[in-house]
Amino acid sequence: MNDDRVFGAIEIGGTKIICAVGKEDGTIFERMRFPTSSPDADIPAMADFFSGHGISSLGVGTFGPVDLRGQGEDYGTILECPREKWSHCRLGQRLKDSIGVPVIVDSDVNAACIGEACFGAGKGKENVLYITVGTGIGIGFTISGRPLHGLMHPEGGHSKVLVHEKETIASVCRLHPDCAEGFASGPALEKRLGTRGENIRPDDPVWEIETYYLSQLVRNCMQILSPNVIVMGGGVMEQAHLFPMIRSKVLEQLHGHYIHAESSDMDSYIVPSRLGGDQALLGCLRMARGVFGHPSSGL
Ligand code: ZN
Repeated sequence: MNDDRVFGAIEIGGTKIICAVGKEDGTIFERMRFPTSSPDADIPAMADFFSGHGISSLGVGTFGPVDLRGQGEDYGTILECPREKWSHCRLGQRLKDSIGVPVIVDSDVNAACIGEACFGAGKGKENVLYITVGTGIGIGFTISGRPLHGLMHPEGGHSKVLVHEKETIASVCRLHPDCAEGFASGPALEKRLGTRGENIRPDDPVWEIETYYLSQLVRNCMQILSPNVIVMGGGVMEQAHLFPMIRSKVLEQLHGHYIHAESSDMDSYIVPSRLGGDQALLGCLRMARGVFGHPSSGL
């Protein structure tokens, strides 16, 4: 069934916000990108962008933690977070008031996972795990196309990892001395070598340490969530040579356990994103269609 409605999508990241209008089939007509500032400055800019486009509803993927279970004005509220101006922002309600359409909210990583499950490397798979490794580390998970919520949304980037014996830095996570984000995010790489990941040669020994952490995260998520495919994206994962390293370390750590027909070929089980950075926006367009309705989203 073709749906001719036009939907809005917003991806809110720590450094940039992207707004787009498009259709449920993933066609994007127009987009706008600007640096993340504060809700008071950014929400009116979002509303300006959407005015005149006639969008039916809006899907939003935001950094978290974000309340996806609250009712009424609490739905889509950003909880206590390091970005002080955004802490306790009633994002869902404010967007609804400013733009005048139903608004559905999820974590940026769940939105990206929906994008991959519908349009990307997870298409056709039952349960899809998406892991982003960039400024932070996040995981998103969809079960038969629906995002996993529970308390709020997964925050697997903060799951515990064993610290490498050659580790030279303390965790960069402000909360945990021992989490994946603290040792394997972009800022952790930069702290370790004093330069950004894209400037580090593929044969540098630091990648052994990096993939030591990422493979633990992948293995834990794999055994806990039982995904049919694991899609990895984000700035750090643009280093394509990390994939074979992660795959072989995961296999090693599984000790022959938990290998199924789908996971026995690690090359097709742990795969890069195919959506060129648009996965969260595409997921937001799909969310806006109203298939994951929450009573307070208006969908
Ligand atoms: Zn942490």
